[in-house]
Amino acid sequence: LKTLALKNKSQIVVCVRKRPLSSVEKIKNESDIISSSTKMLAVHENKKKVDLTKYIEEHRFCFDRVFNETETNRCVYNSVISPLVEHVFNGGNATCFAYGQTGSGKTHTMLDSNEGLYILAGHDIFKKIKNLKYNDLQVVVVFYEIYLNDVYDLLNNRKKLHAREKADRNVCIKDIAEVSISSTKDLLSVFEYGNKNRSIGSTGANSDSSRSHAIMQIELRKSASNSPIGTTLGKLSFIDLAGNERGADRGEAQNDPTTRREGSEINKSLLALKECIRSLDLGKTHQPFRQSRLTLVLRDSFIGDSLCCMIATVAPNNSNCEHTLNTLRYADRVKSI
Ligand code: ADP
Ligand code: MG
Repeated sequence: LKTLALKNKSQIVVCVRKRPLSSVEKIKNESDIISSSTKMLAVHENKKKVDLTKYIEEHRFCFDRVFNETETNRCVYNSVISPLVEHVFNGGNATCFAYGQTGSGKTHTMLDSNEGLYILAGHDIFKKIKNLKYNDLQVVVVFYEIYLNDVYDLLNNRKKLHAREKADRNVCIKDIAEVSISSTKDLLSVFEYGNKNRSIGSTGANSDSSRSHAIMQIELRKSASNSPIGTTLGKLSFIDLAGNERGADRGEAQNDPTTRREGSEINKSLLALKECIRSLDLGKTHQPFRQSRLTLVLRDSFIGDSLCCMIATVAPNNSNCEHTLNTLRYADRVKSI
């Protein structure tokens, strides 16, 4: 019955989250150009004609859910993430992505140390384990980053890791540090430890956390007599994606080869991600997950009855309008099948 219900329902939820104007934007007298209802969002773009007369162009979009600037992480959690946690307890995989330009609220949504979605999920997971008396369940966390298409372990000094596709097509990351946790407090410590490793680039001053994808995965494991590490019940993944803007847009030297490579690797991985999420909803057996390291390591997010939630984060002000529209168009493509 459960699988039947799933088959009729989309496995992908696409939502948009609008952040409030920042204090700097307010000082600059920028206005909020986004209006929204729970499923609809309109961008009122300020434009000028050739003769400099001003006019407003309206762009409308519909999504499964639109969160406005007054809605908290808790609201986001309750409406779109708690069903994912439920799914993981039922033996499935669930993945949540934050997609958007740098400064639009991805990290605030996913990995904020107080109320980030991963922490709210942690509270829920340990509450369920206690209330439902799942004494045999083990909770294991991994936390890593993908930078320039390479995988780095945030829980082991940013050690470079190798992801392999095995004969059964499952993908494993060899020698990744797995930390067993037994409370939300443990989860927070693991996060804080790993997060310190995040922005320290191995390649020098150029590398910052906005150009890497951060991946935090929480796995539920049952003990099994035939295996020392037990068997996986389900896995919940939180992905704080790299900023989707191109390096050149940030006024950086376009001829810097590292910056250019970063931009092109990010672009490639985000395109592959879009294709993989779409193929999940089409129920395709062949997914293009080999196109990037990001989609390769997340292969089990795109197969079977996996659930996927994309949170597209947008800034409300006019100077970010172009980025906002790019983000919304990407999210719209993920959704519309
Ligand atoms: P990103 O990770 O996309 O680069 P951040 O999450 O770092 O962006 O957000 C940029 C700034 O905006 C931070 O100071 C953050 O606290 C703030 N911010 C983002 N989203 C919200 C929100 N929904 N409500 C309040 N402040 C927010
Ligand atoms: Mg960030």
